[in-house]
Amino acid sequence: MSTQRTTREWQAADAAHFLHPFTDFQALSRKGARVIERAENIYLWDTEGHKILDAMSGLWCVNVGYGQQALVDAATAQLKQLPFYNAFFQTATPPAIELAELLAEVTPPQFKHVFFSGSGSEGNDTVVRMVRRYWDLLGQPERQVIISRDNAYHGSTMAGASLGGMSGMHAQGGLPIPGIVHIGQPYRHENGKGLSRDEFGLVAARWLEEKILEVGPERVAAFIGEPIQGAGGVIIPPATYWPEVQRICDQYGILLVSDEVICGFGRTGRWFGCETMGTKPDLMTFAKGVTSGYIPLGGVMVGERVAKVLIEKGGEFAHGYTYSGHPVACAVALANIKLMRELKLVEHVRDDVGPYLASQFATLRDHPLVADAETCGLMGAILLAKDKATGTPFPESLEIGMVCRGHCFREGLIMRAVGDRMIIAPPLVITRAQIDEMMGLIRRCLDLTLADAKAGGWL
Ligand code: PMP
Repeated sequence: MSTQRTTREWQAADAAHFLHPFTDFQALSRKGARVIERAENIYLWDTEGHKILDAMSGLWCVNVGYGQQALVDAATAQLKQLPFYNAFFQTATPPAIELAELLAEVTPPQFKHVFFSGSGSEGNDTVVRMVRRYWDLLGQPERQVIISRDNAYHGSTMAGASLGGMSGMHAQGGLPIPGIVHIGQPYRHENGKGLSRDEFGLVAARWLEEKILEVGPERVAAFIGEPIQGAGGVIIPPATYWPEVQRICDQYGILLVSDEVICGFGRTGRWFGCETMGTKPDLMTFAKGVTSGYIPLGGVMVGERVAKVLIEKGGEFAHGYTYSGHPVACAVALANIKLMRELKLVEHVRDDVGPYLASQFATLRDHPLVADAETCGLMGAILLAKDKATGTPFPESLEIGMVCRGHCFREGLIMRAVGDRMIIAPPLVITRAQIDEMMGLIRRCLDLTLADAKAGGWL
C-alpha cells in the first residue's frame, strides 16, 4: 500500500493537474486513474496493493523486465560523472560514442551510423528530414513523397502522426502534413478475405507498387513500415509480404525504412524485426527497448547507402535535439544491451519462450470467442468474434475488446484492446512458468467476457 497518500488523494491531484496522453480527460477525471507505485520483474503493484502481471512491458518497452540493478547503477554513475552535455558544436560524450559503436555491432551489417533522438516520434521526424535531405543531395529534390500504411503507428509529433495511418489522429490538427501518402495495411481479416495467406501478402505488397506508379516513381523518396504493426493491433503480415515490398523498393530505387520502435531489441526473436521479416532497410527507427524504457532514448540507424551521401557530400544537416545522445540515456542503453547479451535474451525469445508462447496461443483457438490467435516472438494477438467460424465481428457499439480489457484489469493482467484484438507483448525475461500463469489469466478473462456475451444476448 502507498505510504504517502491514499489512492483517492492521488486520483484527485491527478485529475486536478495531469493531462494524460491519448486520454478523454473528462472521462478519466470522473473515474480516477489507476496509480502504479512499484514493479519487479514482470509484475506491477498499484496503490491499492494489487499485484498485476504486465503482459505489455509497460508500453512495449521494458524488455529486460523491471528492477534490473545494472541499469540503475549505470544511470547513477553517469549522473555523478556527467549528467548532461550536448552533441552540438562538434562535441561528444563517451557514453554516446560507445553506444553508437555498440549499435553498429548489434544491428544488421549495413548500419554503421546512428542519429540519436529522445523518442520514437522524434526518430521518425528525423527520418522525414533525412530522406528528403538525401535525395536533395543527390540532385533529386522532387523526391519528397513518403509512402506509409493505413493503421500504422509512427508516433505523435506532427510528422510521426502524419506517417502513421490512424484516421482518428489525422482528424485532429489537420494531418497528414504534405508529401505523405498511405496504402492499405496487410491485415488479412480486414482486406484479404478469400485469399490464402501467401496470396494476400503479395497482393498487399503490390499496393505499394500501384501507389508508386500513381505518385510517379521519380517523386517517391521512401516507404516506411513497422515489421509487425504494434499499436495497430499486432498485425503479423504474411511471410510473402516483406520480401515483395523489398523487391519493389529495390526496383524503383526507393529507400526502405523499418520502424523498429517496437520490433527492435529482441521482440520478434531476432535483434531486429527486419531480420525476422527478411528485409534490408536503409534506415531503421528505434526507441523503447534500447533502454528497456528505463529512461527515454530513440534514434535512427543510418545505412551506408544514405550515410555515405550525407557524409561525403558534406554541408550541415540542420536538424537535432537537445537530448540527441544524452549521456545518461546512452549509459543506460549500453548497460541494457550488455545485459540482454549476458542473459541471452534474444536467444531466449527465439528458441524457448517464443515458440512456447506460440504453442500456448494456438490452444486459444478452441475458445468460443476466439476467431484467431497468433504470435511472433513475444508479440501476440487474439481476435475476438461473434461467430468464430465466419469471423463475423461483434457490433462495434458493444466494444467487446474493452469489455475483455475490463476483466483483465480486475483479474490482475495488463492486456491491451485494439478494437476486437486483444494484444500482448510481455517482457522478454518472462519464463515458461510465467507464460502458464499469463495464459491462465487470459483464459479466465476470455471466459468472463464470454459469460457477459451470453448474459447480454450478444452471441
Ligand atoms: N513507432 C512505433 C512503431 C511505435 O510503436 C511508437 C510508440 N508506440 C512510436 C514510433 C513512437 O514512439 P514514442 O512514443 O517514443 O515517441
